[in-house]
Amino acid sequence: MSQSKQNKITGVRGMNDMLPAEAPLWAHLEQSIQSLVRAYGYQQIRTPIVEQTALFKRGIGEVTDIVEKEMYSFEDGLNGEQLTLRPEGTAAAVRAVIEHNMLYEGPKRLWYTGPMFRHERPQRGRYRQFHQLGIEALGFAGPDIDAEIILMCQRLWDDLGLSGIKLELNSLGQASERAAHRDALVEHFKKHESELDEDSKRRLGSNPLRILDSKNPAMKAIIESAPQILNYLGEESLKHFEGVQKLLKANNLPFKINPRLVRGLDYYNLTVFEWVTTELGSQGTVAGGGRYDPLIAQMGGKAAPACGWAMGMERVIELMKEQGLTSDLEAGCDIYVLHQAGETLEPAFILAERLRSAGLEVILHCSSDGEAASFKSQMKKADASGAAYAIIIGPDELAANQVQLKDLRRDGQQITVSMDNLVDEVINQLVSTSE
Ligand code: ATP
Ligand code: MG
Repeated sequence: MSQSKQNKITGVRGMNDMLPAEAPLWAHLEQSIQSLVRAYGYQQIRTPIVEQTALFKRGIGEVTDIVEKEMYSFEDGLNGEQLTLRPEGTAAAVRAVIEHNMLYEGPKRLWYTGPMFRHERPQRGRYRQFHQLGIEALGFAGPDIDAEIILMCQRLWDDLGLSGIKLELNSLGQASERAAHRDALVEHFKKHESELDEDSKRRLGSNPLRILDSKNPAMKAIIESAPQILNYLGEESLKHFEGVQKLLKANNLPFKINPRLVRGLDYYNLTVFEWVTTELGSQGTVAGGGRYDPLIAQMGGKAAPACGWAMGMERVIELMKEQGLTSDLEAGCDIYVLHQAGETLEPAFILAERLRSAGLEVILHCSSDGEAASFKSQMKKADASGAAYAIIIGPDELAANQVQLKDLRRDGQQITVSMDNLVDEVINQLVSTSE
C-alpha cells in the first residue's frame, strides 16, 4: 500500500449514493410499486441503461430539453458507435416492444424502474442520476386506459399514505389540431418576440409548443396569455378527453384542467397529465405522462396507440420524508446473537443458521478486532440494531445446553431457554408480541 495519503476520489456531481439509512424507505416504495403493478396486471420489462443515441433523438424529439442539452452521449471507443445513457424509459421500452414483436399477441401493459441520466444543474429534486417508475400501456386506443393509468398513480399515493399530490390534465389533440394551434402560437409569440428568452426564440422557429413548457419565470406572462390548445380541438379529440374525465369523476378523482400543460417531450398527443405538489419547492412535479399514439410508428413499428407515465422516485421519497411517513419503517431484525467467542462461537453460529432456516432475521455478533467483546458492548450493538430479542450464549449457558433470551423492545425481561426449544420459543415470543 502507498505510504502517502492519496486525495479522496468523490462521487460524480448530481449522482447520489443511497445509504443504508434510506434503504427502508426505498424498499417500502419498491414494495408498494410491486403490489400496484400486480393489482392492475402490468408486466415488467427491463431494457439496458445504454442505447444508441439515435433512439432518443428520434423518440424524444430533437427540440427538447433532454436531447438539446441533457444527454450523456459518448462514442464507444472500441467500435465507434454513438451511445447515450438513457434519459428516460419510454423510447427504450417502445424499441424493445417493436424489436421483439410484442404487440403481435395484442396490447401490452408494461412497467419498469431504474436509473435515468440527465445532465442538469443539480438541486433539490433534480439530479443527474435519478430513478423513475415508468408505466406504458401499448395498443389501447380508448380513454379507459388513460383513466386507468392515472388512477394507478392515485392508488400509489394512497398506498404510501401521501397526500396533497394534485392531478393536472390537458389534451394536445391530434397533429392537425396542433398545427392550427401552432400558427396561432407563432403569431402570439412573434408579437412578443423581443421579450422571449434565448431558448424560446429558437423554439419559435422549430417547436413553438415547447415554449409553453419553459421554466423561466420571466416568460410566465407571455405564456399565460398565449392561445390555448383546447380551443383548437375537434370533435373526436374532445370526445376522447371527455371520456377520460368522465371515468376520473366516476372514481371520485379530482383534477384541474391546465390548458398550458404540454409536457417536455415531443411524442405526446391527446391526454397529457402531471401530478404536482407544493411541498417540494420548485421541483414539484412528481409524475407526468400522457398519450403518445404516433411514437410506435415513428420508431419504425406498426402503428399502434399507446400511453404511459413516469414518476420520479427521489421526489416521492422526499415527499414521504416531508410528510413524516418514515417512522414505522425503521424496525430492525428479529434477533441479535451474543456470544463469548472461543468455544461459544460455533454453537452461536449454528444457532443463528437454525433461526434463519426458521425464517427469522438474525444478526450474529462479529467482533471488529477478532477478540471477544464484553457482553456490555455487544448488548449496546444489539440495542442499536433494533432487534426485538437478544440471545446470549456464554460458557455457563453452553455447559447447560441453554441460552438467555432477552426482550429488547418492551420490558427487557430475560428468560432462560433450552437450546433444543429455542426456535419454537423465539417464534412464540415474536408472535405474542405482534398480537
Ligand atoms: P421537469 O419539468 O421537472 O424537468 P420533465 O418534464 O423533464 O420534468 P419527465 O421527463 O416527464 O420530467 O420525467 C418524469 C418525472 O421524473 C418528473 O416528473 C420528475 O418527477 C422526475 N424527474 C425528471 N427529471 C429529473 C431529475 N433530473 N432528477 C430527479 N427527478 C427527475
Ligand atoms: Mg426536465
